[in-house]
Amino acid sequence: MQIVEDLIRLLGKDAVLTGKDCAPWSQDWTGGYMWTPLAVVRPRTTQEVSETLKLTYANDVAVVPVGGNTGLTGATVAEGAIMVSLDRMTKIEALSTDAQTVTVQAGVVLERLHEAAEDAGLFFPMTFGARGSARIGGMLATNAGGSNVLRYGNSRDLCLGIEAVLPDGRIVNLLSGLHKDNSGLALKHLFVGSEGTLGIITRATLKLVPRPKARATAMVAAKSLPDALKLLRRLQAETGGQVEAFEYMPRLFMTMHMAHFQDATEPFDAPHDVNLLVEVAATSDRDSTPDDTGVTPIASLLEDTLFSLLHGGEILDAVVAQTEAQRRSMWARREAAAEITFARTPYIDSDIAVPLDKVAAFLDAAQAAVAAIDPGAETLVVSHLGDGNIHHTVYPTRTDPGVKDAVKEAVEKVTLAFGGSFSAEHGIGLSKRASMARQKDPVALETMRAVKAALDPKGLMNPGKVLPD
Ligand SMILES: Cc1cc2nc3c(=O)[nH]c(=O)nc-3n(C[C@H](O)[C@H](O)[C@H](O)COP(=O)(O)OP(=O)(O)OC[C@H]3O[C@@H](n4cnc5c(N)ncnc54)[C@H](O)[C@@H]3O)c2cc1C
Repeated sequence: MQIVEDLIRLLGKDAVLTGKDCAPWSQDWTGGYMWTPLAVVRPRTTQEVSETLKLTYANDVAVVPVGGNTGLTGATVAEGAIMVSLDRMTKIEALSTDAQTVTVQAGVVLERLHEAAEDAGLFFPMTFGARGSARIGGMLATNAGGSNVLRYGNSRDLCLGIEAVLPDGRIVNLLSGLHKDNSGLALKHLFVGSEGTLGIITRATLKLVPRPKARATAMVAAKSLPDALKLLRRLQAETGGQVEAFEYMPRLFMTMHMAHFQDATEPFDAPHDVNLLVEVAATSDRDSTPDDTGVTPIASLLEDTLFSLLHGGEILDAVVAQTEAQRRSMWARREAAAEITFARTPYIDSDIAVPLDKVAAFLDAAQAAVAAIDPGAETLVVSHLGDGNIHHTVYPTRTDPGVKDAVKEAVEKVTLAFGGSFSAEHGIGLSKRASMARQKDPVALETMRAVKAALDPKGLMNPGKVLPD
């Protein structure tokens, strides 16, 4: 193809992959989507991204940006398109400890940013299981959430500024380290969560926060979800809002985890229905300096609170991590969720948000709605409970597109009835476009289409994603 030759001439042979070399970019993380891109282009600078898009725009060629390719909604499917990978744009350009901000190229891997922030005595609080591969551009383009949203907010909340390349190759400079900037529409927010449909994010300025000096982590068994939320409120009050993570894993999750990993261990002597991973973190010396026995005040606070709740019969069991290895093993169980979920097929997955006080009632109603369609179906739930985000996966008894659609729709209807969203943190991609058509407010959809048409009049950026036909 002429465009591939032109791209090679423009960027050099090493920056344009074709044929078998595109294999790592030809399927998604779940293995559920496969495609053949025309080429994978790997620019090194914003200018090279811009030159690439000028060429694709002039030739009416579709473009799909890609970061770590860890997205879970088929948003990087690129059949016959040019994929623009940010994997060579990995510079951490400026980190200010005084302003507590960092400016990075969009290809920086999330875990690398964690390390850089830590080296500077600070913390970048966005984290999730794919942090070793996901890149900042992908994280922003999906407005990723993860397990610390409760305390620090989602990707949008952590983003101060963005630089992006528009579909026609123009560079829009919205880079800023400002916490306040009311100079017109906040265009950066259009790119956050846009899943590559409006342009390519090339750089970003992000917020950093004080680095926790001590953490205390526990597995807790509660009697019910309402009791779990009582525990959350109590811990927030006791620690002055220092709860970083509050994750829920029901009994089926624990069973599937044990079955999936042969060397896995149970957290408690007896199985429980409501298992929680709780983490609190202290940034002050006062709360993090160990006493003579090596125990930090934040750990004592967590232990004392859990002991008093256990004593009062308000929780059923609790195990506090005594070592970093024990803490990591608690997290490894939780962060294996995606691997466990997608290992069993067929599955019908939803990524739902509901108000915190509706979680328990929502799960009961969703269970009833699924049972009415397929009484033998099993439902796996794993949840960032602290922010009301529920990963809800139904395993139907048979592979039947009719059952799949009926279950999806039924779960969506229950979600909306509880004031929820059918897309909490993974985005829409391909897999939730039908839900957009069914459930999103029609005027909101019209407005989104108008924005898309204004920025991408030829419809070349990540075509077929997010917006329904
Ligand atoms: C094991 C595992 C655990 C996960 N846990 C969580 C979790 O807890 N919370 C959560 O929110 N998500 C989670 N995810 C999904 C999460 O959305 C992605 O991992 C991550 O945010 C995407 O980053 P990426 O670089 O891999 O993006 P990709 O998968 O490469 O791309 C995702 C989307 O962003 C677009 N895109 C990528 N880069 C750019 C760019 N520079 N400019 C414009 N558009 C771009 C792509 O076109 C695509 O639409 C998990 C995924 C896995 C595999």
